[in-house]
Amino acid sequence: MSFEKFRLNEKVMAGVRTAGYKEPTPIQAQAIGPILEGRDILGLAQTGTGKTAAFVLPLLHRLMQGRRGRVRALVLAPTRELAEQTHEAILQLGRKTGLTSATVYGGVSITNQIAGLRSCVDVVCACPGRLLDHIGRGTIDLSALDTLILDEADHLFDMGFLPDVRRIVRHLPTRRQTLLFSATMPAEVRSLAKDLLDNSVHIEIGRQAPAATVSHKFYPVQTGQKTALLRDILEKTDMPSALVFTRTKSRAKSLAAQLCKIGHKATSLHGNLTQQKRRQSLDGFRDGRYEVMIATDIAARGIDVTGISHVINYDMPATSDAFIHRIGRTGRAEKTGDALSFITGEDATLLRSLKKLLGEKWKYQAVSGLTVSPADCENAPAAVRSARPVCGRKSVSSRTSSVKRSGGRSFSDAGWLSRAPQTA
Ligand code: AMP
Repeated sequence: MSFEKFRLNEKVMAGVRTAGYKEPTPIQAQAIGPILEGRDILGLAQTGTGKTAAFVLPLLHRLMQGRRGRVRALVLAPTRELAEQTHEAILQLGRKTGLTSATVYGGVSITNQIAGLRSCVDVVCACPGRLLDHIGRGTIDLSALDTLILDEADHLFDMGFLPDVRRIVRHLPTRRQTLLFSATMPAEVRSLAKDLLDNSVHIEIGRQAPAATVSHKFYPVQTGQKTALLRDILEKTDMPSALVFTRTKSRAKSLAAQLCKIGHKATSLHGNLTQQKRRQSLDGFRDGRYEVMIATDIAARGIDVTGISHVINYDMPATSDAFIHRIGRTGRAEKTGDALSFITGEDATLLRSLKKLLGEKWKYQAVSGLTVSPADCENAPAAVRSARPVCGRKSVSSRTSSVKRSGGRSFSDAGWLSRAPQTA
């Protein structure tokens, strides 16, 4: 199948060519047609499937018609990084269209943001908290909106944003097209979809399964030995680009500092950093200035970085879904990747489900003097997990916006599985 089939506006097709997309990914093949027809969409799909272009391309096509310079489309995203990535995709794919996009999220003063929103903007990519501030202040006009996109709805839910999303929706015109994308479908997201979508087309891409291209090693370790183990692994393994996950922001920060002290090119990415610092970390990791990035789940989910060779779970996540998301950062676009996971007695419950999930791919790894017996982890009583930090609306202390004309950098990476669409 080729993109020609969709008869997209020539200026949008120019963006497809510049991005180097030869043929639509499965989610694009299934979603672009119905979106062009104006249908609502419920898309079960993860980052890495080409989901962004699946909604951006038909959106740009539709925005080419109608009056410009008013907010006609709103993309709601759980994190600043995801809002920024979507904004960049709009700029890149719409570079010849002259359509404008703005981001609305934490980082700089609201005054700059207000000025940005006063200029002509066709699309706003926003995190819910700051958008509500603008709605409250009357500094954004959403009366001309005709497309609402909820991206990573399950992550919006995890971060406690669903009440904010519902509040925002009350300020939008009821006659609109709504597209909802989510990697998983918890009951709350299902209920939101039921309330917001009208006669939607259901699309499901890629089951919740770990990528086949990733190999796994599980290191049974005592909590106090994790840093020594990480240092040992970093010293002995060739790791061009390693993404290390910790459970807390403070641990991400201190671990990165410790690694820098002993000569590693390391950075951190978590919700306590300013937007500028987050961007510097991510850009530096993308372009290879940093070999190791220590991140929390909140900051790292949905991030599209190509060529990550290793994902290291310094702290295990709470659920197998979160595990799949994390390891999905490596082994992308048919490349191979390695996932190294440090496990303690606290992870006993998760281990059981991961063992089932990974089957033959499950492998324990011992490091003399640093790891313990697997039985110490497996047979530990299912410990009560320490409370995981939730960086929801309250953590978004200051926010930023930028308005740009189309035209941006290119992305290249994909990995997907497909399923036939169903109509609800
Ligand atoms: P996403 O799932 O939207 O995060 O996209 C994952 C990656 O796939 C991004 O780097 C996109 O630029 C890339 N991508 C999207 N669509 C295509 C396509 N049709 N062909 C090749 N790469 C694509």
